[in-house]
Amino acid sequence: MAPVRRILLKLSGEALMGPDAFGYHADTLAGFVAQIREVTELGVQVGIVVGGGNLFRGATGALSGMNRATADSMGMLATVMNALALKDALVQAGVPARVQTAVAIAHVGEGFERDAAVRELEAGNVVIFGGGTGNPFFTTDTAAALRAAEIGAGLLLKATKVDGVYTADPKKDPSAKRYEALSFDEAIARNLGVLDTAAFALCREQNLSLVVFNVFKPGALKRVVMGEDEGTRVSN
Ligand code: UDP
Repeated sequence: MAPVRRILLKLSGEALMGPDAFGYHADTLAGFVAQIREVTELGVQVGIVVGGGNLFRGATGALSGMNRATADSMGMLATVMNALALKDALVQAGVPARVQTAVAIAHVGEGFERDAAVRELEAGNVVIFGGGTGNPFFTTDTAAALRAAEIGAGLLLKATKVDGVYTADPKKDPSAKRYEALSFDEAIARNLGVLDTAAFALCREQNLSLVVFNVFKPGALKRVVMGEDEGTRVSN
């Protein structure tokens, strides 16, 4: 089976900190870079949306009394820092990568422009989208669904710490089973918390398939793009 031509990978901020409680974990980043390289070598075009939870989350700022929209702007800036960290790790490993931010930040990254992003992808560069959607009250899951739809990705991949979507929390319930495939309706009806509702709505409307998979498992990204049984596939 041929690999998917173009993907949008959503990496949470938390993934970047690996076993640490904050910031970046170099070996973890190197592991992600190795997996990304593996799929680019297959000719897969890779767009990435990064979260910011390893540095700052708007909801946490709001809990301590900050204005939510201001706190969310800080959260979006955290995702830009993560985009730069990931770009640096990729480029240092010889994988060409660019950063586009939802709102242009001079000297830091180009502003998001769909046509330019597609050109970069077609030229073989990984394109990392920082800054979420550019709007407060949204999440980077929604940004990932949005960018996936915009760049015409064949698959949206949500990188997590677990092997997919389970019938129950596998850490609490040893009888929990992984779903191989689910429909968006089932995921919503069973309240499986795979994506937030705005992201779900976009995927459903745009007929965009999602795979939730364990990015900490070596080779998992490659198996997903090859269409092998890895993670949980959610589609219409
Ligand atoms: N954020 C936002 N708008 C967006 C995307 C993100 O305001 O479109 C802010 C929000 O405050 C969020 C933070 O950026 O808490 C980090 O993103 P997210 O929580 O999605 O990161 P993750 O949990 O994936 O690390």
